Amino acid sequence: MKIFLDGSYVEAADAKISVFDHAVLYGDGVFEGIRLYQGCVFRLDDHLERLEFSAKAIMLKLPMTREELAEAVCETCRRNGLSDGYIRLVVTRGVGNLGLSPSSCARPSIFIIADKIELYPREHYERGLTVVTVPTRRSGPAALSPAIKSLNYLNNIFARVEASMSGASEAIMLNEQGYVSECSGDNIFTFFKDKLYTPPASSGALKGITRDVVIEIAAEFDIPLVEANLTRYDLWIAEECFLTGTAAEVVPVVQIDGREIGDGKPGAVSARFMDAFHKRVASEGTFL
Ligand code: PMP
Repeated sequence: MKIFLDGSYVEAADAKISVFDHAVLYGDGVFEGIRLYQGCVFRLDDHLERLEFSAKAIMLKLPMTREELAEAVCETCRRNGLSDGYIRLVVTRGVGNLGLSPSSCARPSIFIIADKIELYPREHYERGLTVVTVPTRRSGPAALSPAIKSLNYLNNIFARVEASMSGASEAIMLNEQGYVSECSGDNIFTFFKDKLYTPPASSGALKGITRDVVIEIAAEFDIPLVEANLTRYDLWIAEECFLTGTAAEVVPVVQIDGREIGDGKPGAVSARFMDAFHKRVASEGTFL
């Protein structure tokens, strides 16, 4: 496997970064997870824009332009002979001393991994997921803004571990006010009385690219989309619920906190969104 690392394409075994990189020492850096569908890097420009926003927020100057990054992403896919896959684009703060201040870090490192995707089990999509609300809250905007896709994912990892301990596939995370924010690696939507609901970005939800696509599909379907604070109660009484994310795509939820959603089977509206999403993936984005 060839990895892009700071301008070169190297074998995976040679793709190394320093133990003094602040990404390793402090989780200081930003990243994107991107999908490749039939030779099309899905919404690459949107991902690169979000990466630029994350980098700006942490005051990291990207050493490559958007065009250069796009070309490096595509070339990494080409060199690995991929037409479908999962891409991880990571920007680290770079090598510095042991102090917290990034001022000792001379230049950021960029690496890109493009690999075959390990798809989620089919039964997740056919039978739906069981999810639970976990004790760990989504970090608030006054601390580490959850809009920044940073390399510090401990908050989400706690949530994921807590979900697994309860035998659930995903964790619903509340914000500090107790409203639903998102899942450990996915955004959340519900369908109730002919409207689609999702927590606003101000709830602490990441502005997911898949979330954006689903919002566009809702407009196409003439289904009103409400970005509103949701409580756990709102989730429990929903007629349908689904999660969205680059890796998960659109995946139905059939049980939340022990309560059956709808009739306990993936709903018809979720199926329409899954189908519409799949119709878009190989045509919207950057072709290799
Ligand atoms: N929330 C979190 C915390 C995530 O890590 C992700 C995955 N990037 C998402 C939501 C979904 O975002 P996207 O659709 O852009 O993958």
